[in-house]
Amino acid sequence: MKTALVCGAGGFIGSHLVKRLKKEGYWVRGVDLKHTEFSKTAADDFVIGDLRDPRVCDQVCDKPFDGVYQLAADMGGAGFVFTGEHDAAIMHNSASINLNMLESARKAKVKRIFYSSSACIYPEYNQRDPNNPKCSEDSAYPAAPDSEYGWEKLFSERLYLSYARNYGMQVRIARFHNIFGEEGTWEGGREKAPAAFCRKVAETPDGGVIEAWGDGEQTRSFLYIEECLEGVRRLMDSDFQGPVNIGSEEMVTINQLAAQVMGIAGKKMTINHKPGPLGVRGRNSDNKLLREKLGWAPSKPMDYGLRITYKWIAEQVAAKKKQ
Ligand code: NAD
Repeated sequence: MKTALVCGAGGFIGSHLVKRLKKEGYWVRGVDLKHTEFSKTAADDFVIGDLRDPRVCDQVCDKPFDGVYQLAADMGGAGFVFTGEHDAAIMHNSASINLNMLESARKAKVKRIFYSSSACIYPEYNQRDPNNPKCSEDSAYPAAPDSEYGWEKLFSERLYLSYARNYGMQVRIARFHNIFGEEGTWEGGREKAPAAFCRKVAETPDGGVIEAWGDGEQTRSFLYIEECLEGVRRLMDSDFQGPVNIGSEEMVTINQLAAQVMGIAGKKMTINHKPGPLGVRGRNSDNKLLREKLGWAPSKPMDYGLRITYKWIAEQVAAKKKQ
């Protein structure tokens, strides 16, 4: 039986990845600071542990796993990453996790290790035009990410590549672009734009007012979790090391995203634009390299995942109201 270790298995992408690996027939160990929030983990073994501690990394990575997926990070949406208030923690915590996990994986002779980097590594100077952002993989340097979160991801990408170069480790690196879906953070300050709009629209009566940061004309693309995992598994099973983008090429403005959520909910609302942490002006995935190397790219429209996500968040909002 093939074996996998998922670090960050209590989080959004990690918990879905555990389910996917189980469906594929893997024996899976998950590790996280916390249990899964919204459903029981599908992992065969789930360890509560702090991966900033190298002893914990050695304990959980105790055999030559077929695949280690390193998704654990101190992480959140714009309201968490771009305020500057969490910079030291983000850099310290996430870099420690990556330094420790790679070293444990090397010692345990794991067959392959996956690292989830981010579109946040791309230089701010290429993302000022909302209609024409540049995010091809080779545009990462000269580096100028707009957040410390992005700088840590860039450092860690280089760390994984160094371990591949010097120790012959098999590493796979993806740069995720805004992944969303059900069973993701939807309140509390770490949620991202799709979940935040789903919550606001679900909470607000028809004809009401919801808030959005900035003028709403900043652009992004959003990838549904199912397609993200398809990309991760294909990359992991391929001969391509990356880094490679895993994202959607369906670029929308934040106002369009909000309008689409309202459409799904069958409600009309006014958007009250107010100052807030924004990130870059424009961003879109560029899947040319992904197509070339994996012969595959995400193809489902944003609407497909947004409907599923809205339904799930509306249920959470309703359940909370009843409490
Ligand atoms: P998440 O916050 O839901 O999951 C991360 C998990 O890591 C959390 O459950 C958290 O408890 C855990 N963790 C944090 N510190 C830990 C520690 N010291 N020891 C053990 N566990 C620890 O985030 P996610 O959206 O599932 O993201 C997974 C990965 O993908 C992260 O590395 C993130 O940076 C990356 N990524 C995500 C997106 C996205 O849109 N969701 C985009 C780009 C990159």
